Parts: sequence; structure tokens; C-alpha cells
Amino acid sequence: MKLHDPVAPDDALADWRIADEPWYAPVGGEVAAFEAAHARGLPLMLKGPTGCGKTRFVEHMAWRLGLPLITVACHEDLSAGDLIGRFLLDGQGTRWQDGPLTRAVRHGAICYLDELVEARADTTVLIHPLTDARRQLPLAATGELLHAHPDFRLVVSYNPGYHGVHKSLKASTRQRFTALEFGYPDAAREAAIVMHECGVDEGIAKQLVTLAERTRRLAGDALDEGASTRMLIHAGLLIAEGLAPRTACLQAVAVPLSDDPEVVSALTALVDACI
Ligand code: ADP
Repeated sequence: MKLHDPVAPDDALADWRIADEPWYAPVGGEVAAFEAAHARGLPLMLKGPTGCGKTRFVEHMAWRLGLPLITVACHEDLSAGDLIGRFLLDGQGTRWQDGPLTRAVRHGAICYLDELVEARADTTVLIHPLTDARRQLPLAATGELLHAHPDFRLVVSYNPGYHGVHKSLKASTRQRFTALEFGYPDAAREAAIVMHECGVDEGIAKQLVTLAERTRRLAGDALDEGASTRMLIHAGLLIAEGLAPRTACLQAVAVPLSDDPEVVSALTALVDACI
């Protein structure tokens, strides 16, 4: 009989641990850059267009570093309570429930705030005392001053192109972060990603990448942004499911990209030229 049976630790973050490696194809020095920021406890901002691999990268890094990952998709109605937590009323009375940010700060996880710029300004300032040497989170509702767990890290994403001049992060927020710029992978790598994620052959993957490159030339003009890697993966999955490549590209790329009939027909012409 064992005298000291190992007792399963009470893992408050079990649901946020990543068991299997999220496959990620590095495009530059981003893995080393993330590891360096992590080693020094520095907050990290990932800048780049939608669907270019930022979220997959964070998932991969969380797995690599053995840290739980708590992701919050920011939006304009996201309140401080949504991030920090709130009192809930149940059969036993009122009890406090940590929000996602508080949970990461208290127990030690990467908190990934996706599209931070979408959050209201009063929500954004919450992260300020967490991003400097204080590493604190004041919980006004409970009167608690939470000192961040040593494993707590903050990562945010931000798409500067999409928001244009209308929405950008305040200097007081942006100066708290180290930042990595993300773009679409080069053509060979993007084709390899599409092949890996969808199981389509190299010929189709290369055609999809060519289509994406041509739509990206329209960005800023007819389109906010060209087709993302995510869109190519959607097209590839539809093709792998048996749809004709042209039909798949219309469904996954041309139609979702724009509501303007003229732009959609220009995109359809691009599909016909590339696929
Ligand atoms: P973002 O967070 O930038 O909006 P995602 O990380 O969700 O984009 O990327 C969309 C999809 O593209 C991912 O689910 C993944 O399948 C694929 N992807 C993009 N870049 C890479 C990469 N470098 N390695 C592996 N997969 C990638």
C-alpha cells in the first residue's frame, strides 16, 4: 500500500489546457520572439490581418509552454464585468464568479484578448496595471487586489488595416506591449498550410493561393482585405468534400468577401482566371 497516494491537484484551469499539439508552420522568428517575451513576462501584441494564423500561433505557443490558454473575443459591448467577473445569485445566495481575465490572473494562464481594439475604453484600461511591473488586478466589486500568478501572461491581437484610422489603440495602451507583425505566409508556405489543413493536392492548393494573392491586390480599394488563409482553408475543405473547385471558391471566397455585386462579379472573374 502506498503511504502517499498522489492526489489529483484541484486544477481550476483543466478546461483551458491544450492536450494535443496545435499544428503551426512558423513563418519567421515568431516562436523565439514569443518565448523571449514569455521568459521576461512581457505582454505581447500580435498585429496582422484576419485569418493569417495569429490565433493558431497562440494556441501552439500555449501548448509548447505547457500553459492553459483563455481566449476572449473582444467586442464593443464587452464590459469590465465580462472580463473580471461578477456576483451571481443562486440557491445558496450571492457568490462571486471570476471572469476569464481574473481566472487567468489568479491561477496562471495565457489570457488572449482577440481584437482588443474592439473593447470599450473602460475595459481596455483594466489591463494597464497587469502589463507593468505591478502585475496587479484590482477587483473593485470584492475589494480584492489580485497579484498575478507567476504564469499569467497577456497576449492581444489587433488588426490595424481593418480598422483604418477610425479605431486604433491609445498610446497609453499600445506602449505597454511588445509586438509582432503577422502577414500572410509566402506562397509556398501558404500552399503547404492549405494542403495540411484540408488534405487537397498541391495543384489545388497552389491555385487557391494564387487566387488569394490576386484578391489581396484589391485590398484597400474594392475590398477592406483580400482573401485570408482561413478562407482558402474553407475553400479547400469544400473541395475535399467533393464540391467543384469553382463552386467551392465562390462559396468560400468570392461571395463572403463583399456585398457589392460588382465586386463579387470581379472576384468571380478572378476565380475563373485562377481555378
Ligand atoms: P487569425 O487569428 O489571424 O484571425 P487564425 O489563427 O484563426 O487567424 O488562422 C486561420 C486558419 O489558418 C487557422 O485555423 C489555420 O488552419 C490556418 N493557418 C494560418 N496560418 C497558419 C500557420 N502559419 N500554421 C498553421 N496554420 C495556419
